[in-house]
Amino acid sequence: MMRGVEADFTLRPRSLDEYVGQARLKEKLRVYLEAAKNRGEALDHLLLFGPPGLGKTTLAHVVAYELGVNIRVTSGPAIEKPGDLAAILTNSLEEGDILFIDEIHRLSKAAEEHLYPALEDFKIDIVIGTGPAARTLRLDLPRFTLIGATTRPGLISGPLRSRFGIIEHLEYYTEEELAQGIARDAALLGLQIEPEAALEIGRRSRGTMRIAKRLFRRVRDFAEVAGERVVGLERARSALDALGLDGLGLEARDRLILKTLIERFSGGPVGLETLATALSEDPETLEEVHEPFLIQLGLLKRTPRGRQATERAYRHLGYPLPEQSRL
Ligand code: ATP
Repeated sequence: MMRGVEADFTLRPRSLDEYVGQARLKEKLRVYLEAAKNRGEALDHLLLFGPPGLGKTTLAHVVAYELGVNIRVTSGPAIEKPGDLAAILTNSLEEGDILFIDEIHRLSKAAEEHLYPALEDFKIDIVIGTGPAARTLRLDLPRFTLIGATTRPGLISGPLRSRFGIIEHLEYYTEEELAQGIARDAALLGLQIEPEAALEIGRRSRGTMRIAKRLFRRVRDFAEVAGERVVGLERARSALDALGLDGLGLEARDRLILKTLIERFSGGPVGLETLATALSEDPETLEEVHEPFLIQLGLLKRTPRGRQATERAYRHLGYPLPEQSRL
């Protein structure tokens, strides 16, 4: 078990050069990082948003590496009380360090309000004692950089958003970029993979680096057990088929979402909650984890009246098309 964890750590890209794809974002970050370094100042607070598994956490580590500073990692739900935030800010950060808050949209209102003066003036108020004897103490903080990550930028309040100097989104990776990420891992693991095989894995990875790397590991298992030293296209195909991934990279769960939409709700439109209930899924997971890529692939539409299966979804799953006008 431990070996797996360690191996994963070493596969993490450390520098911007090793970080695959996201060219538009990397180009801008290079400028911001260089400017901050030249001025000898902490980088402006940075908000990263985009679907899960695109490498936001990894990018935060890369930024820390490029700046030569430490990074402290936490998440919105982990900071329950303002006191939790005060503890992190006062105990573990040094000048220029990075505080990474994943799922920052889940920060409580109280913690969020405590964060404002920390972000703006690098000061934090802590309350000592209770009742009439309570006093507020204002502490100076080192100049740090907050990197916030979120899958739901719409849930970030205006006041918090306005305190980020840099707001950027991560994009889905192309097949070629995913293949590049896979080839990099293969090289680090001392394994050979044919370019077509890496592309095939990339094609079925829903534009997501985390999925590409996970699928590559499973394909590698199949190849190793079969005693193959080079992962070829046929092996990649058969392994991915065995994993239940179809030609578009949909898993059984994704197909079930579309099937339910088509069979139980005549293709929609149907409200998110109703669809989630029919799938015994929680609406947030459905909306954040499954839907974005179904939408990206043109299989599902979000309409004002709810979710709707597209013509492509009917065709992909082999259903006869309903009356044309509805889709
Ligand atoms: P997010 O925070 O956006 O959900 P993440 O950063 O947690 O995503 P990881 O779980 O870190 O995503 O990514 C899975 C694996 O893919 C990790 O080993 C990570 O280092 C690697 N990885 C992610 N993005 C890239 C990239 N652009 N180039 C190379 N490797 C990457």
